[in-house]
Amino acid sequence: MAKEIILKNVSKQFTTKSLGTVTAVENFNLEIEEGECFAFLGPSGCGKTTTLRMIAGFEDLSDGEISLSGRVVSSKEKHLYIPPEERKLGMVFQAFAVWPHMNVFENVAFPLRVQKRPQAEINERVKEALKHTGLDGSANEYPSNLSGGQQQRIALARAIVTNPKIMLLDEPLSNLDPQLRESMRFEIKALQKKFNFTIIFVTHDQAEAMALSDRMLVMDMGKVEQIGTPTELYNKPINRFVHSFLGESSFIKVNVAGNDLNVEGDRQLLHLPIDPLMLKKGQSKGHLLLATRPNTIALLSPEQGDAVSGCLHGTIEQRIFLTNFTEYIVKVGTEKLKVQTPHRIEFMPGDCCCLDLPQAMWYEDDDQQEAIRN
Ligand code: ATP
Repeated sequence: MAKEIILKNVSKQFTTKSLGTVTAVENFNLEIEEGECFAFLGPSGCGKTTTLRMIAGFEDLSDGEISLSGRVVSSKEKHLYIPPEERKLGMVFQAFAVWPHMNVFENVAFPLRVQKRPQAEINERVKEALKHTGLDGSANEYPSNLSGGQQQRIALARAIVTNPKIMLLDEPLSNLDPQLRESMRFEIKALQKKFNFTIIFVTHDQAEAMALSDRMLVMDMGKVEQIGTPTELYNKPINRFVHSFLGESSFIKVNVAGNDLNVEGDRQLLHLPIDPLMLKKGQSKGHLLLATRPNTIALLSPEQGDAVSGCLHGTIEQRIFLTNFTEYIVKVGTEKLKVQTPHRIEFMPGDCCCLDLPQAMWYEDDDQQEAIRN
């Protein structure tokens, strides 16, 4: 499949009087295939919007190169910069709201008017775009008379009216209530299927990224941490940051002593299946981090636990009854682990228990906190 979007060693620095030079994006590399729906996920200020704005052409690069549909559109080395209106993109930006003084038709027609298209073509294309976004009956309405969801659809209709190959969406659903967000997710997916756009969308909502994207990346402080499918990132997070950013995590610190692993403040030894490479790395550091998802831990009685090798012994500290599961805080040595189980498994605070962690991952306990075995 053809590569539709390529970013090579892209960096962006901003210089301000108060902060001096800030690196917003650092050495960013990415290839997105034609027709892919790709999510940028990361905490506030990590550089998602800046990257999207560089792809759109609203920001120049400090370094690197961007190609769209086989054409270089920004390159520091080649002194090349193609303006946004010539990049053939559809965009829905959070701040790129609909214009209140124009009716729905004129809002959607705007990009075609900029391109100086003939009126007959404008009528035809706007009609089509309104049909595909469920706004056929609202052409003469003004945005202020429409709901948040309908206004969001105007922005989508305006983005698809020029028939772009690439769509850039920056937090397109952030102003909508949870129910509407969910239905708009389906609508965006349906539009993508129909028109076969390549989509990049920016979000800080992990559920949205996982529900919508074919592949996604997690970034932090201007750098890409990991790229992959939602399942890959959730099941095999490359470091502690990605592990804790996607879904819920439980971490405990494990000390390495010879060939044994034990938990701080507890004399019990952990006999988990580990490979020699991991032990070697752990030995040089003295300890490792064990990471799990609270809903993958099996909570067992001490008797049940005796039959499972590598089980951790602990004490129930807290029990919280939630709608879909019961959550326990289990004390293991001086460490605490969160465990989520079906309601039918019942333990009380003070009970002794065993924890089986079949899907545990190991991380180095240093600044990088990278996974040791994936
Ligand atoms: P959010 O989710 O809050 O929108 P983000 O991940 O999109 O955040 P960016 O908006 O790309 O993050 O910002 C990345 C960094 O660059 C931040 O430290 C921000 O303050 C800085 N930054 C962005 N735009 C500018 C600018 N025009 N001038 C100076 N600094 C900027």
